[in-house]
Amino acid sequence: MREKVFCANCANCIVIRQFDTEPDKYVLRVKCLKKKWVKRSGEEKLYKYFTVGRRVQEDCTEYAEMGNLLPYIKNLRKELPIKDEVYALK
Ligand code: SF4
Repeated sequence: MREKVFCANCANCIVIRQFDTEPDKYVLRVKCLKKKWVKRSGEEKLYKYFTVGRRVQEDCTEYAEMGNLLPYIKNLRKELPIKDEVYALK
């Protein structure tokens, strides 16, 4: 049977800063280090950080479990921002 895995609990799922038009402002994005997230065009896809709790894969061969899923995923979903936020460098 195929097992659903949560990318947020995988060591290959990392958070990166993405700088946009202003050099001292950034947003947070999540990235799969194994490049499993791709657009239809074949380009790598990054997701907004606040959506990381929803990143689910069917039986990913590169899944590197970091710990017990529960209650981690539940707490993570509570602690994530509710929308995309812009941060400033101090
Ligand atoms: S390796 Fe698989 S489970 Fe891990 S972040 Fe990438 S797609 Fe998700």
